[in-house]
Amino acid sequence: MRPEILFPLFADVTTIGGLGEKSAKLLQNLGIGKVIDLIWHLPAGLIDRTYTPKLAEARTGVIATVKVRVVEHIAPARKAQPYKVLVEDDTDQMTISFFKAYPESIRKNLPVGEIRIVSGKIERFNNMLQMSHPDYIVKEDEAAQIAGIEPVYPLTAGISNKMLNKWIKQALLRLPHLPEWQDPKFLTAESFPDFYTAAELAHRPRRPGDLDPNAPERRRLAYDELLANQLALAIVRQKVKKQPGRELKGNGLLRKKTLDKLPFKLTEAQERVLKEIFADQAAPCRMLRLLQGDVGSGKTIVAFLSMLNAVECGAQAAIMAPTEILAKQHLETIAPLCEEIGIRCELLTGRTKGKKRVQILEDLASGKTDIIIGTHALFQENVVFKDLAYAVIDEQHRFGVHQRLNLSNKGNKADILVMTATPIPRTLVLTAYGDMEYSKIDQVPAGRKPVDTRVMPVEKIGEIVAALQRKIKDGARAYWVCPLVEESEKIDLAAAEERFESLKRYFGAEVGMVHGKMKEAEKDAVMERFKKGEIKLLVATTVIEVGVNVPEATIMVIEHAERFGLAQLHQLRGRIKRGYQASTCILLYSYPLSEHSRARLNIMKETEDGFRIAEEDLELRGGGEMLGTRQSGFAEFRLADLSVHKNLLLTASKDAKLIMELDPDLTSERGQALRTLLYLFERDNAVKTYLAG
Ligand code: ADP
Ligand code: MG
Repeated sequence: MRPEILFPLFADVTTIGGLGEKSAKLLQNLGIGKVIDLIWHLPAGLIDRTYTPKLAEARTGVIATVKVRVVEHIAPARKAQPYKVLVEDDTDQMTISFFKAYPESIRKNLPVGEIRIVSGKIERFNNMLQMSHPDYIVKEDEAAQIAGIEPVYPLTAGISNKMLNKWIKQALLRLPHLPEWQDPKFLTAESFPDFYTAAELAHRPRRPGDLDPNAPERRRLAYDELLANQLALAIVRQKVKKQPGRELKGNGLLRKKTLDKLPFKLTEAQERVLKEIFADQAAPCRMLRLLQGDVGSGKTIVAFLSMLNAVECGAQAAIMAPTEILAKQHLETIAPLCEEIGIRCELLTGRTKGKKRVQILEDLASGKTDIIIGTHALFQENVVFKDLAYAVIDEQHRFGVHQRLNLSNKGNKADILVMTATPIPRTLVLTAYGDMEYSKIDQVPAGRKPVDTRVMPVEKIGEIVAALQRKIKDGARAYWVCPLVEESEKIDLAAAEERFESLKRYFGAEVGMVHGKMKEAEKDAVMERFKKGEIKLLVATTVIEVGVNVPEATIMVIEHAERFGLAQLHQLRGRIKRGYQASTCILLYSYPLSEHSRARLNIMKETEDGFRIAEEDLELRGGGEMLGTRQSGFAEFRLADLSVHKNLLLTASKDAKLIMELDPDLTSERGQALRTLLYLFERDNAVKTYLAG
């Protein structure tokens, strides 16, 4: 249960006075739904209203707050002209102008003869001082309403800065004084204020420097968020690791047989990684390891060999893929090998139905099946193993391992290997997996040809189509990727469909299309036709990213390449990396192209090293945007920015580890406070699922 002290913060934003349903809906665009979200919405700028000159000495072009007397109202002669109000002080006069104004409300706010304080930018126009649409018009005794320095928040259409200021002030009033969860010595060393003060100060910037992500109050909040993230992961990891494991030490016969049958020798990287995995398997504690390697680096065979270790011990092994297509691909690789060495493997997905399903379940329960390949269908309650000792979770490009650790509950103290095809920088490994052991296959099998990558403006599309026509005539198959950017998905989809239609004119029935809005079965059907070669050119939104293997496809055109993250481009390009055959990737960009975007596209031309690309991507975009956050499953931070707070993340990771050593159930006084921290950052699951009391 969430601690009661946090209830006011987790109430809906509409509980804030003057904030109705309509505004609440608009606030969703800013990721704000609850009161706490208002507090996490930090200012991006500030307006200084402390400049209070006499009119005669007012500098133009800056915000000024001036005390004036209203002289007269000048209604516009024509509609297009502004409504003007002449004001003055002892030194000079100024015109306040309003476009598209309501005269009544202006007359009410600025009655002739009265004194008002107005705040806004003063300009000089035809030698006359002028202020259009003042931000504030208040009576003398209301001057306090004009905060000397006003925070400026990131906005969305329909929500003004004034509104946000008002609401956030109210949200801050609800902020309770929470027990301190950070180590006091650390706070002193870093000159961090307490949480309450930090939140308050972060919303009350005095100088531009206060907006710096490294200002103490902002760093404190970032650290809180990072610690919550690291602690939640550490809790999960600890619980898994603490369970006793089993010592998987097979006799190596199946592995040897397999290696003898393989038409290639393992790379050094594969050998090294296997050694690491075998050592984990042999150890008496639970294994939890991350295996990273680019598409084509040979992870599947590594996974398979480690599964054989379990089978040699007389136990079962499972490999779980995120999609049906991927599960089938694993089956295609693994089944022939199993047959050669005389063990049994089966495929179980949501679509395995009827008698077949019953039979597979029976064979799993009886132990007849040694290796099961599947999707999340493997989680279902009625799936029972005789003795699952080892589970490989192939995450491909998605993350969020803790949900999937459940698979190990089906097993008998099963060891777990999490596999990903996305090279992830160390910092992001930390945010997504915590301090998990990991292995890298950082080498591709020898003799592979690099992809010929070219960066071109979209104007060259005519030439490209002509070249594609020739290639396809010669039997090539190609992808044509159009991006979907979530904010304008409809427009993007329309653009992709339009491209499809125009390509049809050149390629007729040989061009097909898949996109994210299609049903699974429809997508599969199109993919199947592409695989068979009935379709030769496949127009796709990024759905192909989630992994599909068509060895004949050697060409990829990516439109609006500048809109993709580097890591994403890398994944896409991986689809045509065939190794022994030449392949071509054309990155099409549209103008305007910033220097920064050009630099990014050039990196793609320069290297195919996924780890380098991932690092560059992190440097250039900050972690949150890598892979497009929405689909990546990486922790999204609201206060921390990994391109700035990398060192804080490392500290938080160490801190979390130490906390777990000293107080694994978070029962001490600090432990209790840390539980509140976890709830505050909505890491409820870690507390509810893994901690007692
Ligand atoms: P990943 O799963 O990492 O994307 P795969 O395991 O599917 O990569 O391997 C890609 C291809 O490379 C497969 O056809 C596989 O048989 C082959 N392969 C794997 N290891 C080696 C190696 N050491 N030498 C040559 N080819 C290899
Ligand atoms: Mg073990």
